[in-house]
Amino acid sequence: MTSPHTGSWHWLDAHGLQAVIDVLRADGHRVVGPRVADGAIVIRDLDSIADLPTGWLDEQDGGSYRLRHDPAAGTFDHVVGPHSLKNFLFPARETIASFTRQDGGWQQAPAAEPEPPLAVLGVRGCDLAALAVQDRVFLGSGYVDAAYQARRERLFVVAVNCRRAAATCFCHSMGCGPAAGAGFDLALTEIDGRFACEVGSDRGAGVLARVPTAALLTPAEIDAARRVPRDLEQRMHDRRPDAGAPAPRSLDTHGIRDLLMANPDHPRWDEVASRCLSCTNCTLVCPTCFCASVQEVADLSGDHVDRERHWASCFSLDHSRMHGQPVRSTTASRYRQWATHKFAGWIDQFGTSGCTGCGRCITWCPVGIDVTAEIAAIRATDGVVTEPPR
Ligand code: SF4
Ligand code: SF4
Repeated sequence: MTSPHTGSWHWLDAHGLQAVIDVLRADGHRVVGPRVADGAIVIRDLDSIADLPTGWLDEQDGGSYRLRHDPAAGTFDHVVGPHSLKNFLFPARETIASFTRQDGGWQQAPAAEPEPPLAVLGVRGCDLAALAVQDRVFLGSGYVDAAYQARRERLFVVAVNCRRAAATCFCHSMGCGPAAGAGFDLALTEIDGRFACEVGSDRGAGVLARVPTAALLTPAEIDAARRVPRDLEQRMHDRRPDAGAPAPRSLDTHGIRDLLMANPDHPRWDEVASRCLSCTNCTLVCPTCFCASVQEVADLSGDHVDRERHWASCFSLDHSRMHGQPVRSTTASRYRQWATHKFAGWIDQFGTSGCTGCGRCITWCPVGIDVTAEIAAIRATDGVVTEPPR
């Protein structure tokens, strides 16, 4: 058999996929991936393929998420849940330094032991694109975040090419899916209970070389595997839903930067603010949002202090506090900041949209606010100017 190399395709059955997990674990990786917990498909530690959500589908819509068991569903026919790579590479809360009072001064504790390398199974195209966005922020903007870099350099990604979309997905509009783009070590396409596995890196080839059941795909089989996400993408463009399901969303991105930059005073910001709770959910589940705050947390004795970094959100009032008061004091101004930064300002700052079309902000918004509908409403009435948001 030809040795695995970047660009080669190999069949894996369930035993082969288990062998991939076993090899990664034997190499010291913490292996995480999708599993059913707390009424959703979340990313948690995996011991075996029995932990994967085979036979489960997620039905998602604005403000709504339900799991449904379907014996015909494969292992990866669900789409994205509330977790993403962000939860692991840029955790919601982490201690970045610790200090102890000693001899009248403060001693900084030595850096913690490095975490084991992380391997993530089931990463979708939208989340690979989000990884590239976060790389720009944490590694490529003139300041390198050491904690992110340490995790990122040892990350092993087993991607999945989607063959089903939720009603909240619009990755095709953002050019981020449903096929897995660059950046994976291995990528799986599920076909008739087996996995067509494409090698994306030398590290991926090294892992697959130690998996005994990997037979090569024929050229015709490679074509068939490539058609799986391509056919889904066409269905998404055509807004053709699966039987009994609502159609996936879409977003017209033509001139979107200029559209939003030209409409800071659009009345839609006030309209959406009348529904938005400023709860911050959309920013917490977004795989590209990167805002954080740093806090010093002392124990009761006052002799030990941890410096903690935790996620922050542009929806919270304090996020824009300067000189004793918030710059963005209204929900309208905060929603406008989020949407305009995400879909317009990022293009200036990072050369890319801050949105990958994963749809999480739509699903997990408690009142079902849908950014694709909000931007469409602004586009539909572009040029209408009334009183600016307060
Ligand atoms: S803005 Fe919404 S759809 Fe876009 S990447 Fe963030 S959570 Fe996903
Ligand atoms: S848009 Fe929805 S999720 Fe985001 S802050 Fe407002 S209510 Fe919360």
